[in-house]
Amino acid sequence: MTYPVIPIRWQRDAPRVVRDDLDLSEHPLAGTPCAHCDGPLDGQDPVAIVAVGPAPDDPAEIERHDEGRWYSADGVLCHDVCAPAFDPATLTRAPVTRR
Ligand SMILES: [Zn+2]
Repeated sequence: MTYPVIPIRWQRDAPRVVRDDLDLSEHPLAGTPCAHCDGPLDGQDPVAIVAVGPAPDDPAEIERHDEGRWYSADGVLCHDVCAPAFDPATLTRAPVTRR
């Protein structure tokens, strides 16, 4: 399973759930899978953006992450109800779609 990657501003010590109020019903990403349960984000339920961390191929962002600074992190979409249980370690990071 692959998940669209959403670029977000994030900092290591900030809450991992950065948004929890998205409505995808009119959005091109409607129907993509939840990064936690793989169920479709079909526009019926609110959607969250959850921070994953720095892109594995971006040394500058990895350094900012390690230093606890703000940087451009990768985020993924989850159902609101799934977001608190999402574990980035379970995510297959490649291939991904950057938007
Ligand atoms: Zn879910």
